[in-house]
Amino acid sequence: MGFEKIVVPQEGTKITSSNGKLNVPDNPIVGFIEGDGIGYDIMTASKRIWDAAVNVAYNGNRKISWMEIYSGEKAASVYDGNYMPEETFDAMREFLIGIKGPLTTPVGGGFRSLNVTLRQVLDLYSCVRPVRWYRGVPSPLKAPEEVDVVIFRENTEDVYAGIEYESGTPENEKLARFLREEMGATFFEGAGIGIKPISAFGTKRLVRAAIQYAIDHKRKSVTLVHKGNIQKFTEGAFMKWGYEVAAQEFAEQTISWDDVASKHNGKVPEGKILIQDTIADIIFQKMILRPSEFDVLATPNLNGDYLSDAVAAEVGGVGIAPGANIGDAIAMFEATHGTAPKYTNLDKVNPGSLLFSGVMLLEHLGWVEAADLITKAYEKTLDQKLVTYDFARQMIGATEVSTSQFATTVIDNMSR
Ligand code: NAD
Repeated sequence: MGFEKIVVPQEGTKITSSNGKLNVPDNPIVGFIEGDGIGYDIMTASKRIWDAAVNVAYNGNRKISWMEIYSGEKAASVYDGNYMPEETFDAMREFLIGIKGPLTTPVGGGFRSLNVTLRQVLDLYSCVRPVRWYRGVPSPLKAPEEVDVVIFRENTEDVYAGIEYESGTPENEKLARFLREEMGATFFEGAGIGIKPISAFGTKRLVRAAIQYAIDHKRKSVTLVHKGNIQKFTEGAFMKWGYEVAAQEFAEQTISWDDVASKHNGKVPEGKILIQDTIADIIFQKMILRPSEFDVLATPNLNGDYLSDAVAAEVGGVGIAPGANIGDAIAMFEATHGTAPKYTNLDKVNPGSLLFSGVMLLEHLGWVEAADLITKAYEKTLDQKLVTYDFARQMIGATEVSTSQFATTVIDNMSR
């Protein structure tokens, strides 16, 4: 396909997908969106580290060919004011795998979140956020090493579906009339109204991906996180459909908590993945007091949004937590924090979140040796207490380094 502004690298081959499996050549083309604000600094530093790791891990026999694609402020400058050009979606559909820096989203007006648009248009229905502690990272917990979970947040429905009607508009009044007169609903005059759709289809594909991940990565449990005690037909249904998909499609590999209690004296049989559920509010407490009891967590969109950031804070915060948005074939890896505009181009911030999103990308490609190399070199760098400002102010005896110096040290630590 020809693009207007995107330049496809001469060197490199397309990643393809067949029967749900990726075919990854030794020189794949991978898309990247630089991101606004601190995007340039963290993308530049992280690309150097990813490239070095691939080079060292495979003795120069593998290499990523990076292809810049555009969204956000850089897109607006390249595409004459268009923040989300159509060919960005086309490129992702064609090349399948990408990684992005943070993008600016206006609050309470302006255009819709570019991140949400990307997820919805490309149908990237699982937001995957692994949260674990890396040796040396400052944490408020006494035993941060007990935190090792992977959050699967549903990405396309719930209150994020964008079905909202502003108070005082004819649409709002029409819907309010219908709800009051035909459905018997009562609520205050002039209320803004939002709709929360949660479907069996949307729930099951998310929970299916979470269970498959647990199987592939030898995880012990999948916990369905929901607010079904209050929102019975949306959050409660999420729980019900989640158990259903486990029983109907993974009966061999999984067992529900009910069956463990009634048939196995409360002990999970060897080799089975436990499917359990918890109410959304209590999971915030449990993830602080007893994090080791959780493994893979599957949640609807809004709960997952809150939970991912809260759990990330236990092991160093969003400055280091990585993330990915994954559909059936297309995957977009992303820094989970925002654009931190006050630090733009200061070469100051922590590249950790984007860096580890790239580690997830390498694992997704099956390039685990390169991924592991980065994790080890990162831990070595933290042992040396060479860190960016955000960690330096929480660590005794640390030396503050710039984003680019941090990247150079991680690269140096790969070869030692
Ligand atoms: P933010 O994450 O940009 O920044 C909050 C604070 O966190 C910063 O001031 C900084 O102190 C710290 N921080 C963030 N990233 C860091 C890093 N890599 N290293 C060190 N410290 C870091 O959140 P915000 O200020 O609420 O949002 C700013 C903009 O980013 C908004 O336009 C918002 O919509 C957008 N945003 C985008 C994404 C995304 O693209 N995925 C996510 C969240 C917010």
